[in-house]
Amino acid sequence: MSEPADAARRRAVPPVLVYPPDSLPPAPLAAYRDALAGAERTGTVTVPPRDAACVEVPSGAFLRILSVEGPQVGDLNLFRLGDLAERFFSGKTRALHGTHVGVGDRLWSCFPYLRPLATIVEDTLGWYGTDADGGRVHDVIGTRCDPYTGRLLSGTDYHHCCHSNLTRALAARTGLTLAEAEGHVHDVLNLFMCTGFDAEGRYFMKASPVRPGDYMTFLAEQPLLAVLSTCPGGDCGAGHSSDAAACHPLVMEVWEGAAPDGWAEPAPSAYDRSHGL
Ligand SMILES: [Zn+2]
Repeated sequence: MSEPADAARRRAVPPVLVYPPDSLPPAPLAAYRDALAGAERTGTVTVPPRDAACVEVPSGAFLRILSVEGPQVGDLNLFRLGDLAERFFSGKTRALHGTHVGVGDRLWSCFPYLRPLATIVEDTLGWYGTDADGGRVHDVIGTRCDPYTGRLLSGTDYHHCCHSNLTRALAARTGLTLAEAEGHVHDVLNLFMCTGFDAEGRYFMKASPVRPGDYMTFLAEQPLLAVLSTCPGGDCGAGHSSDAAACHPLVMEVWEGAAPDGWAEPAPSAYDRSHGL
């Protein structure tokens, strides 16, 4: 297709950040770290390879997710405890904070709530930055590996994709049927996963730099039900949706103590939901 005469001029307009970094007040990380320093571990849940598990985190407490035994990517779903309607909103988190998240970023909930579910307080992979391929860690781009795309691409069924792992774990925890639980499973935080876009804009992954002992810690801005899947892709350096990759457990820890100084649970969006009528 031929270009219009003013194509160069149209392309040359400067980009404008949709949500500049100062659009939101910064997270009070010093107060969060002080609270974490005084917290004690009150719970530990191990997620077996190619499976998922749930943990409840009280409001104002901390969730730490650790790599153990070997490199492993985790697919995380978050809900407000007791209200599955309020869940993690990957797309808006991406718009507000960028394609990959790190310390100080919030994990936002869906409409009509749009408030932080959690805030990232620690990340031992914070050193990774952006590699020569444009790869970064902890993306909110990918959706989760799932048996439907697997079926579409390979014509075969694989039942231990993150989508199915999350569905089984949520059903077991809530008593919902698999079909009911599946409808609550949502786009994830791809914890420890290393991803980016190539020059043609195609989504890529490469082996995660995570090693045993690495972790990410979140402040629960609300009471949380966290559901974590150990991706069947392992470090996601090759493929997923099969039993081919080396897979390892992940550990979820709950740390409780005094809530951070000055902290209060965020209120839901004050928008009146009249939508112009
Ligand atoms: Zn997966």
